[in-house]
Amino acid sequence: MKTQAKNYINGKWVPGTLGKIDMINPSYNTKAGEIARSGDQDVDKAVKAARNAFNRVWGKTDAANRGRILYKIANVLEEHLDELSELESADTGKPIKQARTDASLCARYFEFYAGAADKLHGDTIPFMDGYSVYTKRVPLGVTGHIIPWNYPLQMTGRTLAPALAAGNTAVFKPAEDACLAVVRVFELIHEAGFPPGVVNLVTGLGDEAGAALANHPGIDHMAFTGSPEVGKIVMKNSADHIRPVLLELGGKSPQVVFNDADIEAAMPVIVNAIIQNAGQTCSAGSRLVIQEDIHDDVVHELIKRFKKLKTGPADKNPDVGPIITKKQLERVEGFVQRAIDDGAEILAQGDKPDGEGFFFPPMLMGRVNNESFIAQNEVFGPVLTVIPFKDEADAIRIANDVEYGLIAAVWTKDVGKAHRVAEAIDAGQVYINGYGAGGGVELPFGGMKKSGFGREKGFEALYDVTAVKTVIVNHG
Ligand code: NAP
Ligand code: MG
Repeated sequence: MKTQAKNYINGKWVPGTLGKIDMINPSYNTKAGEIARSGDQDVDKAVKAARNAFNRVWGKTDAANRGRILYKIANVLEEHLDELSELESADTGKPIKQARTDASLCARYFEFYAGAADKLHGDTIPFMDGYSVYTKRVPLGVTGHIIPWNYPLQMTGRTLAPALAAGNTAVFKPAEDACLAVVRVFELIHEAGFPPGVVNLVTGLGDEAGAALANHPGIDHMAFTGSPEVGKIVMKNSADHIRPVLLELGGKSPQVVFNDADIEAAMPVIVNAIIQNAGQTCSAGSRLVIQEDIHDDVVHELIKRFKKLKTGPADKNPDVGPIITKKQLERVEGFVQRAIDDGAEILAQGDKPDGEGFFFPPMLMGRVNNESFIAQNEVFGPVLTVIPFKDEADAIRIANDVEYGLIAAVWTKDVGKAHRVAEAIDAGQVYINGYGAGGGVELPFGGMKKSGFGREKGFEALYDVTAVKTVIVNHG
């Protein structure tokens, strides 16, 4: 399946002004396709098209009609799940099963926000005698979207669907390391029949197309998911233009396991939370914080499970696919070396497959100090660190002793303890006796502390891309 190495601007496919970029299949280190390489001029055209579409059409389209178009997109995406998952799998190295889940979720985001479009109600507010006051949620205008390479399909639905449902138009810049399936989504969006300019796609490098979008004065809301370093740049750009920004900058999420937990139930969930997408997940469960009296038994069982995990090319549907690029693989290896230098120990690692792919079999590490580099920073690879705790207070202290605060899990059969610990952990989402990285279209999601701010998913996402307008009526 070949996608166009072009941008989608004002309802037309046009070449990038800076040429093309090759995309790599990380399972085999072969070429997976091409995308357009874009810069200031392309982004400027896209922003102008989005502004025009907002002023003339989309900002005036009935909410119910916006919802109907989003439903059409959801349906057309649903009809193309096979090809979308194949493209996503070849481009990112995701096992094909995971890629299919992601493709379904992309469609599901459009479905959810299609239904939400005409249910974004305002309030009526009691005020002085002789007045009526009501509020309404109005779109902000042109929204900018910069997403990373780890979940291109999911992120496209997650960020675009609420912005469009609320009446905004959009300019979208996916990551240079993986976006072929995103290009296909835009081809399908074109078929579904949005008015020209409502959604625009500009592909390319972060410091070219990305920087041009983040710097553009014509953007009214900027949504960014990626590294804290680039997040800061995007936020500074937004400060220059005085506009809201949503930042999702990853996490170092703890799974806190008490000695009264159902370990049988927890075990596969704990493993999956770190191997999903080869650990390249902002909400990966990367720190296992475990009560000391069950530590040895749980670690013993985890070692057995980690050794059995199969790593390999994504099209063979392994437990764990490759890391996205050679550069990211070297970054993960660097983290592990630094951890060993800091006194950590490798407890288990799966077998490394042959071939040219960028493979890093999942690894379990013990003797990890929570202050060490590996316990504090996002590895973005399948590396689970185990840290013991004494009692509830100690568990909470360790769970919160990081700069990030994205998600967390608490495993216990004690209802009171579960709620107390959930309340005490600083995270945008806390699971009790479960873990769900990525999923949950209905569930508000976003960071505390250095994980960022603003909320995606659920109804909250609609609040982020709208402003409250209060209308005060004097009866006269
Ligand atoms: P990144 O550089 O922050 O990339 C995120 C997005 O920002 C990409 O679309 C990127 O484009 C774009 N970008 C890069 N420089 C930009 C600039 N100056 N202005 C505007 N946009 C710019 O992240 P990465 O290099 O792909 O990954 C590095 C690390 O970030 C990972 O190891 C991981 O720790 C973290 N990360 C976190 C998440 C998350 O979900 N929170 C996702 C991915 C990565 P290009 O891809 O073309 O550079
Ligand atoms: Mg980058």
